[in-house]
Amino acid sequence: MDDRLARVRARLSAAQKVLVVGHVRPDGDAISSSAALALMLRRLGKEARACIPDRIPCYFREIPGVEVIEGVDALRGWHPDTTVVVDSGSLERIGPAAELLPTGKPDIVLDHHATNTGFGVLNLCDPSYPATSLLIYRLAKGWVPLDRHLAHLLLLGLATDTGFFKYASVDARTLHAAGELVALGGDLAGIAAAVLEHRSLAELKLLQKMLGTVTLEAEGKLAWGYVSADMLRSLGLDQQASEGFVGELRNLRGVEVAILFTEWPPGEVHVSLRSKGGVDVAELAARLGGGGHPRAAGCSFRGLPLPQAIARVTQAALAALARESPRSRQG
Ligand code: AMP
Ligand code: MN
Ligand code: MN
Repeated sequence: MDDRLARVRARLSAAQKVLVVGHVRPDGDAISSSAALALMLRRLGKEARACIPDRIPCYFREIPGVEVIEGVDALRGWHPDTTVVVDSGSLERIGPAAELLPTGKPDIVLDHHATNTGFGVLNLCDPSYPATSLLIYRLAKGWVPLDRHLAHLLLLGLATDTGFFKYASVDARTLHAAGELVALGGDLAGIAAAVLEHRSLAELKLLQKMLGTVTLEAEGKLAWGYVSADMLRSLGLDQQASEGFVGELRNLRGVEVAILFTEWPPGEVHVSLRSKGGVDVAELAARLGGGGHPRAAGCSFRGLPLPQAIARVTQAALAALARESPRSRQG
């Protein structure tokens, strides 16, 4: 690992103008990793810019440093000599930002998805890391001085990708790193307040509608629910409003696989998959054209109506559950 980090450091040291790109439908880790890496490179005297090709949820904008992230339009016509893609398992994940890559292929990929396709020239993907921002922190240590702003920004990705330090991906190394970031001035309570306590009344009403759709199958091992475009439209919301809803399904006792379908924009369905049993949802998502982690993954469909998307994914999940526990399913 140290060798690979050294190679990435050497490649970045030789760069002058660096573009750092995160994925569409950005989460805390994509935001944290892209903004923090761009700011670190600026501290090393480089010209560095960060791009997320999508709207950034407003609650992330409260975190200092996030404001450096720009959209695709602002970066057209800027010619980086080096490009880095972070927290993305495939080129598709950066959507329209792919057009900003001069060679069509990123020079460096920094990621932690087991489903990573190795789409960069230099690929550093380590699924043992619970967040890409931890990889960026390792890259920074002993190379770039970290102040409390950078520590806070890096802690954002680590906290959000670990469900605030409660997922199975959390080990002693994760908590040590989090402790170091807190010692440097990262404010965990501030991140939790910004990210977890921002629900509007309309979003709460959307949750109520989604709960009305919850269906259990396979003796309660599979729970799924949906948010339709009509529900979102009637409340004046978009797909970001259903962020976190899949957690409500996973919280059900006895559930092993939880699935949330969000139809937005109309004509597209985003599928969020969560597992708390033996089913590897990254593998399940990969079969459906997506990817992710063993316990949190996703995929998207374009042009497939919501009922068909539900049928396709739930059938695949039921088959995965049956493969996972054939004896208990018979009994
Ligand atoms: P989400 O359910 O949208 O929060 O996504 C959970 C995880 O699944 C993310 O952290 C991504 O790693 C991955 N993921 C979500 N959507 C996709 C997709 N369309 N393609 C590949 N990976 C995805
Ligand atoms: Mn992510
Ligand atoms: Mn991540």
